[in-house]
Amino acid sequence: MEATMNAHDTFSGGVHPAGNKQLSAHKPAVAAAIPARAVIPLSQHIGAPTKAVVVIGQEVKKGEKIGETTGFVSAPVHASISGKVVALGNFPHSLGMDLPAVVIESDGKDEWVAGLKENADYALLSPEELKKIVLEAGIVGMGGATFPTHVKLGPPKEKPIDVVILNGAECEPYLTSDHRLMLERPQQIVDGLKILMRILGVKKGYIGIEANKPDAVETMTKAAAGSPEIKVWPVKVKYPQGAEKMLIKAIAHRTVPAGALPMDVGVVVQNVGTAEAIYTAVRYGRPLVERYVTVTGRGVKEPKNFLARIGTPFLQLIEEAGGLTEDAAKVIAGGPMMGMSQHDLTVPVIKGTSGILVLPKNEVVVKPYGPCIRCGRCIDACPMMLQPSLLGIYIEKGHYQDAKEFNLMDCFECGSCTYVCPANRPMVQWVKKAKKELAKKKN
Ligand code: SF4
Ligand code: SF4
Repeated sequence: MEATMNAHDTFSGGVHPAGNKQLSAHKPAVAAAIPARAVIPLSQHIGAPTKAVVVIGQEVKKGEKIGETTGFVSAPVHASISGKVVALGNFPHSLGMDLPAVVIESDGKDEWVAGLKENADYALLSPEELKKIVLEAGIVGMGGATFPTHVKLGPPKEKPIDVVILNGAECEPYLTSDHRLMLERPQQIVDGLKILMRILGVKKGYIGIEANKPDAVETMTKAAAGSPEIKVWPVKVKYPQGAEKMLIKAIAHRTVPAGALPMDVGVVVQNVGTAEAIYTAVRYGRPLVERYVTVTGRGVKEPKNFLARIGTPFLQLIEEAGGLTEDAAKVIAGGPMMGMSQHDLTVPVIKGTSGILVLPKNEVVVKPYGPCIRCGRCIDACPMMLQPSLLGIYIEKGHYQDAKEFNLMDCFECGSCTYVCPANRPMVQWVKKAKKELAKKKN
């Protein structure tokens, strides 16, 4: 495969929601205040939750491991501030339920744990040593998927990888955290990509960026100028262009079959934030304890981008963004298409929190849904070429198995079908419900 840079290669389907990125795209990220009390969930990733390795009353330093993995698909969790462990228990989580967490009260010193190993000459480390650093640093997919990164870096031998793609598309409306990261830490991202390529033994790396971020394309191109093995690739502005399978189609011109994974077509995709976290872990020995977060929407007074510690309460960041407007009506973790509504603003920033979106009343219009009028718009919009209308009809009647036979599990809940449906049918909600019901039956 050798493709040329072309913003017109894309997938079929997709939608064009208003980007609304102008609210925060031009605002450099500022360091959020260190939270007085960080609530750090033991589960911030897909896979087995971690097990606390600290006790109440214990003094901890920033970067100290507080949650140990309990399985292969898992990622350790670290203290994001220095202070004292004051509680262990279930606390509100942005997934919409109470989940186990370690609560640390800050000592105001913000001291790193001793013994973090810097590697100025990390190019001398073996792929296995690099992979171990990624695992120990607790790095997960920071675009929101939160899949433990070390797992993706160890594909089975029969599935060789020859392309690594960094996802800087950030197609979700409103969010600008990846955009700012590309403008502010371009070299770290490029160096993180090189580490990924070294671990996987890959000679081709791409950085996919939606063509509506020309400054990011230019900055990343400059940062990659001395690295002919890396190409910055503008992709078409269309939602969900940043989804793994869509990015692979646009850049590598490969189709990931239904039910298959990117590794089945020789590709690993990682978010730009993940690459930056990998560089920080490998070069400075620092685990993942902070991330870029966009706080935006017309329901906050001063939309901003932050560099925030994991465990910072949403409310604190909202207050640092000027607070809620009088007509603020809905808070979402993530963007409007794939994010999750929040009802408790004490929930903390986790490794997958790319943004906090606050919508005002006039943008939260709940319309009743009606029967499917068979207009076919959802079928045209679905990037996975599913039949969302049919899935909706089955799921509404509780026929989950029938929905499964029509590739329910291939739906990655992008929301494009719901976005275009004139009957306001809540397909994504239904898909989520059906997947849960099927999982219950399996257990
Ligand atoms: S069925 Fe799933 S993948 Fe297809 S448009 Fe709807 S949410 Fe997206
Ligand atoms: S867009 Fe809505 S009304 Fe039209 S076919 Fe799909 S589910 Fe039915």
